Amino acid sequence: MEVRLADKRGFCFGVEDAIEIAERAIEEHGAGRVVALGPVIHNPSVVEYLERKGLNQSGDLETIPERANVLIRSHGATPETIARARERNLNIVDATCVLVKKAQDVVKSLHAEGYQVVMIGNRDHPEVRGVIGYAPNVVVIDSVEEVAEALPHKKRLGIVAQTTHSPEHVAEIVAEIVKRPFKEIKLHNTLCMEVTQRQKAAVALCGQVDVMFVLGGLHSANTQELARLCRAEATKTYHLEKWEDFDPAMVKDATVAGVTAGASTPEWTLQEFVRGLEAL
Ligand code: SF4
Repeated sequence: MEVRLADKRGFCFGVEDAIEIAERAIEEHGAGRVVALGPVIHNPSVVEYLERKGLNQSGDLETIPERANVLIRSHGATPETIARARERNLNIVDATCVLVKKAQDVVKSLHAEGYQVVMIGNRDHPEVRGVIGYAPNVVVIDSVEEVAEALPHKKRLGIVAQTTHSPEHVAEIVAEIVKRPFKEIKLHNTLCMEVTQRQKAAVALCGQVDVMFVLGGLHSANTQELARLCRAEATKTYHLEKWEDFDPAMVKDATVAGVTAGASTPEWTLQEFVRGLEAL
């Protein structure tokens, strides 16, 4: 089988930084002495790799022993979480991606300037849960339909978006917002170019292949978005975590397969997958 790879794929700088920060913290404080507040990134094989190196994980700050080292993951955390960690005398190791930090700062300053802050994003995603903690009463929407339902009328709106969303999705929602009688709309572009470049490369590859494989954690928002965009190109698309999830029926009648990987997918996962496909 012929295999073509997307020009831009795999680890982004934010994920590379987060892994490096975690590794350095384990080296400095010792195996078992650093606790990540939730998965460092949304990729089980990277999380397992860091656990083998000695990183512990907890979803609940209150269960982390006092004076331990708490690692804030690339998705960031709310100011309340950070304050509570300090109150409990935890040493904070901050692996929040700089672009997520920028979104947090923007939300804070929009609120200070008197805007009703609106975030376009998935309210259940940890990045969104963290970012909206930087201002009170942030409205979260993620579809055109929600514009009518959720936005307060005649206010000055300050808009940000989840870093991993596609420009097309955000533009669709913003287009609906500008049709309404808001006095002022201020849009900050908080989208991550690393993600946008991977999306463009994946869409470009769709036109050249019979089937697309998008590799990455099933909970990874940017990987899910890659798969959604490939499907929107009417290309048969599979979102898989690793080679073990592959089934030969997926490439029935296909001669050329395209492969891309989300921003939290390690190169070793991609290479193993490509070797498997090429051997067919
Ligand atoms: S995808 Fe972008 S925003 Fe998310 S961690 Fe990577 S660089 Fe940061």
